[in-house]
Amino acid sequence: MELAPARPRRQARGRPPVHLADLDPAERRVCVQDLGQPGYRADQLSRHYFGRLVESPDEMTDLPAAVRRELTAALLPPLLAAERELTCDDGMTRKTLWRAGDGAYVESVLMRYPGRATMCVSSQAGCGMACPFCATGQAGLTRNLSTGEIITQIVNGARVLTRGGMAGGAGRVSNVVFMGMGEPLANYASVLAAVRRMTDPVPAGLGISQRAITVSTVGLVPAMAKLAGEGLSVRLAVSLHAPDDELRDELVPVNRRWKVAEVLDAAWAYAAATRRRVSVEYAMIRDVNDQAWRADALAALLKGRLAHVNLIPLNPTPGSRWTASDPAVATEFEARLARRGIPVTVRDTRGREIDAACGQLAASSQKLAPSAP
Ligand code: SAH
Repeated sequence: MELAPARPRRQARGRPPVHLADLDPAERRVCVQDLGQPGYRADQLSRHYFGRLVESPDEMTDLPAAVRRELTAALLPPLLAAERELTCDDGMTRKTLWRAGDGAYVESVLMRYPGRATMCVSSQAGCGMACPFCATGQAGLTRNLSTGEIITQIVNGARVLTRGGMAGGAGRVSNVVFMGMGEPLANYASVLAAVRRMTDPVPAGLGISQRAITVSTVGLVPAMAKLAGEGLSVRLAVSLHAPDDELRDELVPVNRRWKVAEVLDAAWAYAAATRRRVSVEYAMIRDVNDQAWRADALAALLKGRLAHVNLIPLNPTPGSRWTASDPAVATEFEARLARRGIPVTVRDTRGREIDAACGQLAASSQKLAPSAP
């Protein structure tokens, strides 16, 4: 039987095709009904995709064969193709370079730790924030990713883990961090829908805890305020990198628009709304932002606040004049914060030898194989 012609299922020009993960459960039912099928088929398909993590029609044995093919073709279009897979850290880190339908490259990284597995996802192809120490920032923004493209990265990681495809045996994705390519709050609607899909219980979504999701931002103040009003309990990370406007204007250029004080006010409002400690990200850059006086200035800004500092040894990007802080200097910086009662940890650096830091792999591939215009 020919199924009824559906309403056009393409988004605006230049956007990837609509995918099940772009839609909430009510929209999925409408879509399935447009295809001439009963609405409950949407739940069946969702259970396959979000629950069993299958997308091949052959595995959907509770659906009639013709229906499987039709629903899969309409609602599970392939969005990203794995172009390269790299593993390191004894198989506990796995990085994927993805090529989207329009040739744009994005990256995701799956990191396994005792008792948890963290998926680091991209929210945009490229990034428009232009932070000079970040590989992605150098390339500029190509485009926003769709919700389906964000979720595809996570579903792929979840599949690898459930099928025991990674060192450490079978497991599940327990945490997601928006610390891959892109500025998540500059792609607000798609990222927020992706958070809902990740955290809604099966079959609506993947059933990951909201508390295990981290949205990392350069400090887009209006979007931070909006996020605080969503009634979510996701963690917010703020990429501060300097306690003073003079230096932060250079390291995080959007600081020229929203200053350190405004960004931190928005962070504290977020903490108050969600009762969640804000993570303050600080890449340690040798002789740039690692002076003792800057540690003290940072401590003064954070004193008494619901905050935690994450010190990240800079991962030098090709062609950059900057490098990581001397370990002794970094240790002193950390100690100065700790002595002033500021909770502080040093980020574990995964995937150094596979260019896992922020856009490095995509940047090198872009040079090898320029994407389609
Ligand atoms: N745009 C968002 C999320 C993406 S990057 C943001 O800026 O928060 C995630 C974190 O990695 C940010 O704190 C970013 O500043 C940091 N980062 C980028 N390039 C880095 C590098 N070369 N070394 C260390 N940290 C880096």
